[in-house]
Amino acid sequence: MHSIDEALGLILGPIEPLDAAREPLAAAAGRVAAEDAAAAVDLPPFDRSAMDGYAVRSADTAPGVALRLAGGVAAGEVSTDELAPGAAAPVSTGAALPPGADAVLQSELASAGDGTVTPERAIETGRHVRYRGEDVRAGDVLARAGDRLTLPRLSALASAGVGEVAVHRRPRLQVLVTGSELLPLGAPPEPGRIHESNGLMVGLLAERAGADVTHGGVVPDDREATLAAVQAGLRADVLVVSGGVSVGPHDHVKPAFEACGVEEVLWRVRIKPGKPVWFGTREDTLVFGLPGNPLSSIVCFCMFIEPALRRLQGERDAAPRLVPGRLTAPAGPSDGRTTFLTARIARGEDGVLEATPTERQGSHMTGALGESDGFAVAPHGSPGLAAGDPVDLLLLS
Ligand code: AMP
Ligand code: MG
Repeated sequence: MHSIDEALGLILGPIEPLDAAREPLAAAAGRVAAEDAAAAVDLPPFDRSAMDGYAVRSADTAPGVALRLAGGVAAGEVSTDELAPGAAAPVSTGAALPPGADAVLQSELASAGDGTVTPERAIETGRHVRYRGEDVRAGDVLARAGDRLTLPRLSALASAGVGEVAVHRRPRLQVLVTGSELLPLGAPPEPGRIHESNGLMVGLLAERAGADVTHGGVVPDDREATLAAVQAGLRADVLVVSGGVSVGPHDHVKPAFEACGVEEVLWRVRIKPGKPVWFGTREDTLVFGLPGNPLSSIVCFCMFIEPALRRLQGERDAAPRLVPGRLTAPAGPSDGRTTFLTARIARGEDGVLEATPTERQGSHMTGALGESDGFAVAPHGSPGLAAGDPVDLLLLS
């Protein structure tokens, strides 16, 4: 049996990011740059006014000395006429300065007369001028390969004249749910059968992690049906099979993996819930077998599959999204497995996330999920935790 860290090393270590394609900025949002993306233009692209006012030669400005009004420049226009000595050209914010001008007299410091404008005071060189390239130079790298294209990065790229960036492809993920006892969402109850929830959760969590999800439906516990569904699912980049990875007589998933040439990398991790989790590969396809229990499948998805999806999309240091927090109530001892406790999570007065484990605990307590925001993680071998102890949290809300 593997520790969580060993399992993560085995899963993530060999993953190479998927191939890349150029995408318009809107489609690239939230994805990972596959190549450095550099500014196409200087920012600002030309010397421009930061104020509504008058372009002037600073040496000509003195308190109370009138300047002759020359032709104006609106935003988006370019003047090729040199600003004559002793003249002032009306400019609006963002307009290119006319040649010869080296400062802007802002409107608030100017009184306009008949064909003239008079500054209240002398204007120094460079006043209210944004010089070409002072912010960004064409060729400056604004997003590096491996950087996530966050909204601020996209805004900077757009300003710098970039319309498309190379990003890693989204992983195609296929979900298969196995179990003859399972009823689809919202179906009328039937004796001996339960409503399934893993297809929904795996699909939603995978989409949230950037995957393109397809659903292979619910497969009964039947050798042939499982084999056919697994075979078809192996066309995806990631195949996730829920249920049937234990060793019962109705567990056909592992034999189906074997028959399809999926090589086992690991089976069983010291994690609670989720111990029977299985991982293997066939060529470039990653294959995960999740325990059918809903809590187990959510925990294992977040700990193992989500980081794998982010790594496939090019994230360099993909790891489970655990965040620091603390307990508000004691938690019992853990056995040899890292234990995930369903918990309400809210920010305390000092800003630290506080986790209150739900009264009902245990992988069969799926209803406890309904009153939780995620999990508090009790390390394996913990003799018990006290209220106030620091813990890692896995947030789901
Ligand atoms: P298994 O991993 O197939 O042995 O399933 C373990 C437990 O989880 C059994 O009680 C199953 O009925 C239940 N289970 C399996 N798949 C699902 C599912 N998709 N949704 C809800 N419960 C499930
Ligand atoms: Mg089953």
